[in-house]
Amino acid sequence: MITARPSVTRVRPYVPGTPSGHADTSLASNESALGTSRTVRAAVAAAAANAHRYPDSLADELRDALAAEHGVDPDQILIGNGSDELIFLLAWAYIADGGRVVCADPPYRLDEISTVVTGGQLIKVPLVGWTHDLDAMAEIEAEIAHIVNPHNPTGTLRSRAEIERFVEHCRADLVVIDEAYIDFADDPGAVTAMPLAAAGQAAVLRTFSKLHGLAGLRIGYLVADREIVATLRRVRTPFSVNVLSQAAAVAAVRDHDYQHTARQLTRHHRARLTQLLTEAGYRVVPSQANFVLVVTDEPALIARLNEHGISVRPGSSLGLPGTVRISVPSESGLHRLEEILKNTTAPPTNPRSASNASC
Ligand SMILES: *Cc1c(COP(=O)(O)O)cnc(C)c1O
Repeated sequence: MITARPSVTRVRPYVPGTPSGHADTSLASNESALGTSRTVRAAVAAAAANAHRYPDSLADELRDALAAEHGVDPDQILIGNGSDELIFLLAWAYIADGGRVVCADPPYRLDEISTVVTGGQLIKVPLVGWTHDLDAMAEIEAEIAHIVNPHNPTGTLRSRAEIERFVEHCRADLVVIDEAYIDFADDPGAVTAMPLAAAGQAAVLRTFSKLHGLAGLRIGYLVADREIVATLRRVRTPFSVNVLSQAAAVAAVRDHDYQHTARQLTRHHRARLTQLLTEAGYRVVPSQANFVLVVTDEPALIARLNEHGISVRPGSSLGLPGTVRISVPSESGLHRLEEILKNTTAPPTNPRSASNASC
């Protein structure tokens, strides 16, 4: 009987969010509350005629559009099958067989899984006040430092100045800043680390899964120094980004109306969701993402919402027991929540139920 490598046996498997059966009440996976853009649907339908052909290996049309948008050279961009693929490529290229990764505790789960399964060593630094403890992380010697900004699962943000100081002083060889949720921040331009990536001083990860609403098509990208992109190209499988996803992403980049509406709707609904929960007596971590983290009796709130057909993400599956992560819903999802919360009294928060409860 064949046995898996010890690093594979050691990893704590990823537990995906459970969909509720309806988009308006599926609040477990931070999907777009706006649905799929019409122009994206048309682009995917048109591209289906080319399904018999291999995709463009490097997705040149998309790369050129993104290079223009971010003011970087196309050779500084690598498109991946979701940013999750790019996180794995980084691990294969720089971490496998004993490399070190420093990340937050709790980390984004893929940062943890990619490190452990490739035989790397993961150093987790507890959050302070629900945010990355950049000072403590900077002291750790590592090949890669993963910063998620805004962080998942807390929704908290570090400023551009804080990130710049970290990149300058940290002991890691490469800082990877995952900006999956940056577009939902109140002022993305002021906080993004893209200027650092453009200068080759850090790597920035972006995804089409959140703002652009393409989670089901699996496409994201990395911006970094040319050398890093060239290295990752040696590791990747050549056709990981399919024909339909490339066409969808090109249409999505040009669909400024959808982006604008998604940004505005998310910020507006995030404020209403926070207010609803706060008025019902729940403690909510202030969020700059398209979800909020509630500090509460985790099983009780999940059971209450599930009972009414709403699925949310258990904090314990994300490394934060005693919390519940709720994605920013559509208008009708918000109404459903309002109805339920009107008739619910929040239980008193157990101060020991979450690791950061005192912050
Ligand atoms: C959702 C999310 C992503 C997106 O991953 P894809 O593979 O592009 O869908 C990346 N990083 C974080 C922290 C996320 O929460």
